[in-house]
Amino acid sequence: DNAQPKKPDWIRVRAPGGQGYAETHKIMREHKLSTVCEEAGCPNVGECWSQGHATMMIMGEICTRGCTFCNVATGRPEALDAFEPGRVADAVKKLGLNHVVITSVDRDDVADGGAEHFAMTIRAIRRHAPDTTIEILTPDFLKSTPDALETVVAAKPDVFNHNLETVPGLYPSVRPGARYFHSLRLLQRVKELDPGMFTKSGIMVGLGEDRQGVMQVMDDMRAADIDFLTIGQYLQPTPKHHAVDRFVPPDEFKAYENAAYGKGFLMVSATPLTRSSYHAGDDFARLKAA
Ligand code: SF4
Ligand code: SF4
Repeated sequence: DNAQPKKPDWIRVRAPGGQGYAETHKIMREHKLSTVCEEAGCPNVGECWSQGHATMMIMGEICTRGCTFCNVATGRPEALDAFEPGRVADAVKKLGLNHVVITSVDRDDVADGGAEHFAMTIRAIRRHAPDTTIEILTPDFLKSTPDALETVVAAKPDVFNHNLETVPGLYPSVRPGARYFHSLRLLQRVKELDPGMFTKSGIMVGLGEDRQGVMQVMDDMRAADIDFLTIGQYLQPTPKHHAVDRFVPPDEFKAYENAAYGKGFLMVSATPLTRSSYHAGDDFARLKAA
């Protein structure tokens, strides 16, 4: 049946609010931009937006993939909007962000997977908001032209993030259409192309993986030279999405965090409410200052 484990009290979703929230919301609307914060119903939206952190989603709201954990609609996307990079850059400037995370839907319908659009967006932000550090969270470019990754890396984001999402054994049911070793290799190539660029990845737990599997993913990531790691609890967006297998208690997250630092990650966030972009800016600023 569909019976789901009951949400424990350590999963507390704070209601959005506050002046910073309203301001962020207004600027996003005015610039016709989507945020993952809203699309994914992220539990941290109140906290992040009131502090001026937001994750913008470019290249439309319709994805060519259908990952079973994700609430973004699957279908045939509209053509890329050549004015979007400029609007993103203007919004970043108006929000006065120290750090911005830019992500996108997957665009298997575009030859380069949207690589040039990503690069244009990075360059536009650099021009309009030169002090803002830029983190991109990209699709896997699995079906894209061979130089797609080079195009994005050449635009020089500060952090290149691509999520592995789960252990390889769960790919067929969680991330159909993606390949675990392709995603891992993508991040390794980023480091080979630009050794000074920080690389980052993340997984969700509570999808049915076991502890040994999570440890193996960490080892695979370190073998691919990945610098930063995020681990968070999977939450089911609607009853039609992948079921929650279990709620991982906070002390298990703490154990993952300790293990990850032991394996050599530079920065680790592993808590029930960790999301790929949660506190990304603070962590990055701390690292740069160190
Ligand atoms: Fe947005 Fe990321 Fe914060 Fe969630 S954690 S509200 S997606 S910036
Ligand atoms: Fe969602 Fe990304 Fe998967 Fe598309 S590729 S369904 S946006 S997780």
